[in-house]
Amino acid sequence: MPHYVSTLGEVNPVDFETAVLLGKPADGGLFIPEKLPKVSLTQLKSWQHLSYPALAVEVLSLFIDEATIPGDDLRQLVADSFGTFTHPETIPHHALTDELYVQELFHGPTLSFKDVAMGFVVNLFDYFLRRRGERRTLMVATSGDTGPAAAHASIGKSSLSTWLFFPTGLITGEQARQMTTIMAPNVHSVAVDNCKNGSDNLDELIFRCFADDDFREEMQLSSVNSINWARVMTQTVHYFYGYLRHASKVGDPINFAVPCGAFGNMCAGSMARRMGLPVGKMIIATNANLVLSQAMETGLFAKLDIRNTYASAIDISVPMNFWRHLYYSLGGDADRVRAAWDTYEREGEVRFTASEHTAFSEGFLSYTVSDEHILETTRDHWKREDSLLDPHGAVAVAAARHFRSQLSGPIVCLATAHPAKFPDTIRLAIGELPEAGKHESLENARTAGERKYVFDHATMHEAVPAVMRAVLTNNAKE
Ligand SMILES: *Cc1c(COP(=O)(O)O)cnc(C)c1O
Repeated sequence: MPHYVSTLGEVNPVDFETAVLLGKPADGGLFIPEKLPKVSLTQLKSWQHLSYPALAVEVLSLFIDEATIPGDDLRQLVADSFGTFTHPETIPHHALTDELYVQELFHGPTLSFKDVAMGFVVNLFDYFLRRRGERRTLMVATSGDTGPAAAHASIGKSSLSTWLFFPTGLITGEQARQMTTIMAPNVHSVAVDNCKNGSDNLDELIFRCFADDDFREEMQLSSVNSINWARVMTQTVHYFYGYLRHASKVGDPINFAVPCGAFGNMCAGSMARRMGLPVGKMIIATNANLVLSQAMETGLFAKLDIRNTYASAIDISVPMNFWRHLYYSLGGDADRVRAAWDTYEREGEVRFTASEHTAFSEGFLSYTVSDEHILETTRDHWKREDSLLDPHGAVAVAAARHFRSQLSGPIVCLATAHPAKFPDTIRLAIGELPEAGKHESLENARTAGERKYVFDHATMHEAVPAVMRAVLTNNAKE
């Protein structure tokens, strides 16, 4: 089984359990397996008819050995995690015209793709912590979908106390209520007013809390955010599944179009390809936030001011998982990754050499989708395919249609949220909200009681830790 190292190369290798529970190595990098496991075509063929959960067990077993989690326990963890999905196929696909397919990643409890990995990762935390007799406090910043997924997965887990932070007004009311209506005693929602840079401001809050040794120790802080290795690992599975559903013959290439924010989903796809999955092109579909498309097109990776778009879950200016992708693209040269990271930290941007640029962009295409184009694609899809897309699914489909005539083989478009999470955009696009744009769980949340803390960006660095301490002390008394 692989050991886990840091992309910045300055910590000793650790095992899987340590990498998951720590979330982030002490040198400020990201954990990654020293070597990725390989999958042969023969193995792929033998997986062809597996259900999603059965395939997940096979793929995850490449990363997790019996000594870490016995097979029966792993099967149970997977069954518990994907048992909360309401569709009998877990992650269904449907065919569009022109050899396009939509992979619906949104049938989990909070109707977004984040449920795909979060359910499993939170269960994994709980499993390890109960075995060790330990507890953790999770801090989760959210641009909309991560928070609800983490909150929901944490309900009833006594090993975890979970704090969700969201920027007031910058996520939808539906998303906010998916957190604030949870009454579980170990789940706490926090709205922060005046976040100019959206959830990036909240990442900064969490970063500072982690940097405070006393606070981190006292609270037993940990993180399931998009840089936790186990999230990326779990997301490799839907690429294998999509491939096996749509390759006409195992070995033939197919393509994927992915709406990208923090690049976790796409990073998982690029790892699946490195593991041996015969993927043709990976299409990086983005909105008006251009960090990734600029990097892929010009080799300049730069912090840019955030722009608010209809596809708000990918309004991200710091796509952290790019650094994992970079590490493998540069052949595991941690010294070079560290030098690039230092430049990026110091100057807010780093320009890669021509050969480095080629190394990380080979096999990728990128396409930028404006808000107007999101509406147009949603409208067109509703008319032509008689089905609804959420704004992120629309970003993927728009990008796939753009490249359709240039690519051979199927293109699988990742639809990452249920349309009911974005009713305002749907109304703007097609003038009404059809039944397919509603969901019972969100209708119920509309009238349920809410519970949340509210802070201001200006004072959050003092106020938030104080309240978290008070809650911990209170709980200890009970
Ligand atoms: C998180 C999210 C994405 C982007 O995934 P990344 O791994 O951050 O690139 C896309 N769509 C939706 C709906 C999401 O919640």
